[in-house]
Amino acid sequence: MAEKAEKRWIAETLFDDLGFRMTFEVDEVLYELQTEHQHLVLFEQPFFGKMLMLDGATQISKRDEFIYQEMMSHVPLFAHGNAREVLIIGGGDCGIAEEVLKHKTVAHLTQVEIDAKVIEFAKEHFPEFTGPVFADKRFESVIDDGAKYVAKTDRRFDVIIVDSTDPQGPGKILFGEKFYSGCKRCLNKGGVLVTQNGVPFFQKNELTSTMLKFRRLFADATCYVAAIPVYVGGHMAMGFATDNKRLRRQPVKAIAQRYRKAGSFATKYWTPELHVAAFAQPRFIAELVAKANPGR
Ligand code: SAM
Repeated sequence: MAEKAEKRWIAETLFDDLGFRMTFEVDEVLYELQTEHQHLVLFEQPFFGKMLMLDGATQISKRDEFIYQEMMSHVPLFAHGNAREVLIIGGGDCGIAEEVLKHKTVAHLTQVEIDAKVIEFAKEHFPEFTGPVFADKRFESVIDDGAKYVAKTDRRFDVIIVDSTDPQGPGKILFGEKFYSGCKRCLNKGGVLVTQNGVPFFQKNELTSTMLKFRRLFADATCYVAAIPVYVGGHMAMGFATDNKRLRRQPVKAIAQRYRKAGSFATKYWTPELHVAAFAQPRFIAELVAKANPGR
């Protein structure tokens, strides 16, 4: 009788320097490739469903992607309240683009992704995202390094969402002060910049170094949090920077009104109450932000 094939397990190597690894049992590898920029593997996982890893770091799982995608898009858009021009840096799976385009107030969405292969495979394996996005006339896809794009474009944006990989490989430059000041240059007055800033319990320097750079560039620099099961380590931090100090201090009533005006489209995680609560940081994260942000 034929030997049952050994099940493959794929390890996330992001925290090797901390001496631990998350490993995922694999039902089927759907796509594996060394692209011009990074190692890409997409696989079916018994619990999380489809999962994407880039350079050994988990990017997305079908089971909990809604948490990250909704919080990275609806918080800055409802905080701003009248965003018409939106820029996404990275975001090749198009999950965030799909959420942004739910806002009818958005007139134009530009996505700048460095790796065309990520978009290519997303069209094949995440049609629920790419289908509505590429069918939407407001959407423009640019293949470029986000750092180069914000340094040279003459376009201006109300909201910039940096849905990047971790500060390694092609994503490293997206955590630099030059990139953040390029983003500041491209923001309209009172515009908002949000960034994925890792899981502070394991990646505290990623948060403090970004907060320090934000502080030098913006009047208001902080983060909001959400817990995303596949991003092991508790709360994920999302950097929030703007010159308009009122944006993150609006009451639930105001956010709920904007949500109604936007048609109260379906969400699975974001709510007006959670939007406001997400800026209440656990003390250890508040201390990391305060350390980089004394008395502002
Ligand atoms: N949610 C994920 C996370 O938090 O780790 C990120 C998902 S998204 C797939 C990350 C995207 O950033 C990838 O498609 C990657 O190719 C893109 N990326 C990395 N460096 C980039 C750069 N310098 N410019 C533009 N896109 C970049």
